[in-house]
Formats: sequence, C-alpha cells, structure tokens
Amino acid sequence: MDYVDLRSDTVTHPTPEMREAMAKAVVGDDVYGEDPTVNRLQEMAAAMVGQEAGLFVPSGTMGNLTAILAHCGRGDEIIVGKRAHTFLYEAGGVSALGGVHSNQIMEQPDGSLALEDIQAAIRADDVHQPVTRLICLENTHNRCGGTFQTPAYTRRVCDFAHERGLKVHLDGARLFNAATAQGVPARDLTEGVDSVTFCLSKGLCAPVGSVLCGSREFIARARRIRKQLGGGMRQVGVLAAAGIVALEKMVGRLGEDHARARRLAEGLRAIRGLVLDEGTPATNMVFLSLAEEVPFTAREVAEKMKSLGVLVGVVGERRFRLVTHYWVDDEGVEKAIEAFQEALA
Ligand SMILES: *Cc1c(COP(=O)(O)O)cnc(C)c1O
Repeated sequence: MDYVDLRSDTVTHPTPEMREAMAKAVVGDDVYGEDPTVNRLQEMAAAMVGQEAGLFVPSGTMGNLTAILAHCGRGDEIIVGKRAHTFLYEAGGVSALGGVHSNQIMEQPDGSLALEDIQAAIRADDVHQPVTRLICLENTHNRCGGTFQTPAYTRRVCDFAHERGLKVHLDGARLFNAATAQGVPARDLTEGVDSVTFCLSKGLCAPVGSVLCGSREFIARARRIRKQLGGGMRQVGVLAAAGIVALEKMVGRLGEDHARARRLAEGLRAIRGLVLDEGTPATNMVFLSLAEEVPFTAREVAEKMKSLGVLVGVVGERRFRLVTHYWVDDEGVEKAIEAFQEALA
C-alpha cells in the first residue's frame, strides 16, 4: 500500500535524477580529500551559506556534534534551547562524547532565544563555574513548530556573542525552509555565524547526509573530529552526488511544500475535534491537537488513519505533527484531510 507519509520529511526517498547522478558519480578517497564529487558538494554548500569551507557528514547529529566539539573543550559550556534538537534528540552526545556541559534556556514560542536569557546564562569568570563558549541556535525550529528566525535576529545574536568572546553555531537542518518562507537567500540567515549545519536528506530528498560549514581553519579542525567520531568516509561521492542534485534542484521547490502545508492546515481547521496551533504552519510542519471532547488518544487516531492509508506523527498524548515534503502531492493532502475526518467521525 502506498501511504501518504506525513510523519516527517526524513522519509523522503531520493529522486530518479539523484539515483542517476549517484550511479554516474566520479569518486575518490575522501579521507585523502580526493573525492571530486564530495569536494564539489562542499564548495557549493559553503558558497550557499556564505562560509569559506564545508564538510560532508553522515547525519545532522554528527554535524552538530562535530561542530560543538570543534568549538569547545571538555568542561566548556554551551547555551542551548530546552527544546533544541541538539539538547533533546542527539542522545546527549556533546556531554557523553565531548565532556561538554550544556546550559539549557527556554525558547520564546517562536523558537528564538531571548538576548536577556542568553545574557543571564553566561557564566562568571569564577573557578566554580564552567566556561561559556558557544551559543547554539536552530532555524527552522523543529519542536517550536517549524518556526523560522529572521536574518536580523541571527545577526543580533552573533553580534551579541562576538562582543562577549563567544561563538555561534546554527543548527540549520531545515535552513532552506527558513529561507524559502522569508524569500531570502540562505546566506542571509547565516551571516555572522561561526558554523552552520544543514540537512540534505530531509525536504531536499538526498538519501543521506548533512554539510557542516565554517571558516577554513574551523573546518580543518572539524575534519579531524569527524575522523575521531568514525565519520571519515571513503568513496562517498556516490552520496555527495545526490546532495548536489538536492542543492541544485530541490531548494527552489520547497515553497510547494509550504503551500501544501497551508492547504492541509486549512482543511484540518474545518474539522470538528481538531485544534490547530496558532500560526501553524510557519513552513512545512502543521502542529495540532485533539479537542477535549474527542474520546480517542492521538495514537488511536493515528492507527485508524494508518488503516486509511495516511501516516501521521504523534508527538504527545493528544498531539500530532504533520510534515509535507516532495513525496506528498495535492491529492495526498486531500486524502489526509479526509482520513482525519473519517478517523474522528
Ligand atoms: C533532523 C534534525 C537534525 C539532524 O538529525 P539527523 O537525523 O541526525 O540527520 C538536527 N537538527 C534538527 C533541528 C533536525 O530537525
């Protein structure tokens, strides 16, 4: 059965063009820096985010971990949102593997970190305290609703950080969704950051991979850390080739996913028993909950919908996350709306 799969944009399969590019990719040993396809992807990626250099990594998690370990030593501290992917969903890697301490602060509803809260979290020069090194931002913000930050906000945090001798890392897993939603080039959202990761494998459909970008000196350090983490890959141009297609062909169409998310939200808003989050969708994610009178849990509704050919993300007892992507077309959106209707009837 062909499901309409709205659980996440991580479920995307590579496009036929990607499979063809993968088959034809010219490769070399990337640990020697000799894979021309990887080198090309890294250069393209860096240029798109206005940084000097890029590093292909197997996952966003490894990209963030590599970046944080390249910025921080053992016992150093990062300032990170309580609902940040890095804090919630990366298995505590920065502390488990890097001895890096995290100071979590509550995000604003839009996923931003307020400057006052960052200021209050910065440690004093005192032997009792860890040393603050790095501020971690996320754009778009997954747990805060796929919300996006503006170029001005990012710039403000970077200026603030740099005046205090701190660095800024941006987890931009869905950076191109943030750029698309605002009609700005991605590099406007990375101006001033010391490092940024973005994902090739979510809405951009590549089968694997993220790119970490930063200064040449930073990426040279990150390359050693990637090797320590076991992320030095060999003839990985076969994967980078799909990443190149992702950057060339898939970035420009993300607006279609956002439009479908809006249509999906519009359809669901009309169904009694569903309560959509205010302002949803900001990008390609629709967040909603079951109204109090509904006698089912989200899991029960999801099971029913599965039998109707629609997969949805359950992110709480009574809460859903629906993510649009390349493999969900207009018909799929209508089918999902009808399935909700039927599941709640
Ligand atoms: C998906 C995601 C990542 C990286 O996840 P991987 O599954 O390791 O590629 C990082 N940050 C955010 C915000 C994400 O949504």
